[in-house]
Amino acid sequence: MSIGTTVPLVNLTANIPSDVQVEPRPAVSCSSCEASCCRLEVFILSETGVPDQHIEIDQWGATTMARLDDGWCSALDRNTMRCSIYNKRPDICRELDMGGDECLSIRAEDR
Ligand code: SF4
Ligand code: SF4
Repeated sequence: MSIGTTVPLVNLTANIPSDVQVEPRPAVSCSSCEASCCRLEVFILSETGVPDQHIEIDQWGATTMARLDDGWCSALDRNTMRCSIYNKRPDICRELDMGGDECLSIRAEDR
């Protein structure tokens, strides 16, 4: 293509046959997720008031959220699949953006 060539604007949906239904992407929500991110190792990097029974020191001396044998965080309420220490949860849990890239990646790996 030479400099100055005019490029026509293309309607990207124009190539989809009219009889094909395009499904809307389902909304990402913690309430429709089996707490995928609560099965990851969560480091405790600052004091947020996590109760002692949910704190573990790993073999390298790092402070983490305790996890049960099935991998889920010990602070996860297994009846509701919600955090039982929400107001005291570690910074890492606060910073995970629901629907953000990391959340989507975690959910995809958990399928
Ligand atoms: S932040 Fe993302 S991965 Fe974590 S519970 Fe919510 S939807 Fe699931
Ligand atoms: S502290 Fe709460 S939000 Fe963080 S991993 Fe545990 S259950 Fe999930």
